[in-house]
Amino acid sequence: MNKKAIQKICYGVYIISSKMGEKINGQIANTVFQITSEPPTVAISINKQNMTHDYIKESKVFTVSVLGKSASMNLIGRFGFKSGRETDKFKETKYRLGVTGAPIILDNTISYLECEVLSSSDVGTHTVFIGKVIDADILSDEEPMTYAYYHEVKGGKSPKTAPTYVTEETPKESVKEPVVSDKYRCKVCGYVYDPANGDPDSGIKPGTPFEDLPDTWSCPICGAPKGEFEKEG
Ligand code: FE
Repeated sequence: MNKKAIQKICYGVYIISSKMGEKINGQIANTVFQITSEPPTVAISINKQNMTHDYIKESKVFTVSVLGKSASMNLIGRFGFKSGRETDKFKETKYRLGVTGAPIILDNTISYLECEVLSSSDVGTHTVFIGKVIDADILSDEEPMTYAYYHEVKGGKSPKTAPTYVTEETPKESVKEPVVSDKYRCKVCGYVYDPANGDPDSGIKPGTPFEDLPDTWSCPICGAPKGEFEKEG
């Protein structure tokens, strides 16, 4: 079987959020799809290890915030590579509570859906939740971010808990490049700092060598400090 065939399926990038009592949490997911139009229903696949999973199971509600192409790596990193058990993801995030009481992200969100869980299916590592859409709206006319765009243009990675996670192969041979263009990889999340691109979301101009990044700079995906980076190759 050629598992690469599965990677040809297209996805978007979303923040799935839910609540448990007064508490709220959310996470990045790429697996959201419409099941029926009348009534409108969608399915999501959530890793059982994630806190949002327990919140959805308990409250039986979730929201889907659809991210636009301009969504920052900082936002994606906060919701995709950090756990709500260790950090309050909503502290630096603009949001409002929807009619379900679950949060709707307002940073870089182009549309949102509010859902009530109709049923769920245990698929081993993940649970597939089917939700009836009870409210929805469009917040911006920006184009949605696709998963391919996130990987190719934004240089994004997938956490190991993603349903579509694929083990990356390390290249057998690597050509040694001049120091100025040395790329550095985050040991925590796998993000690669490429001096050619810089990190515009954090005010780092293209052409900035890793060595010249300020000590306060941190991984735009997971927030790890500079010391957690190693030279590639
Ligand atoms: Fe990182």
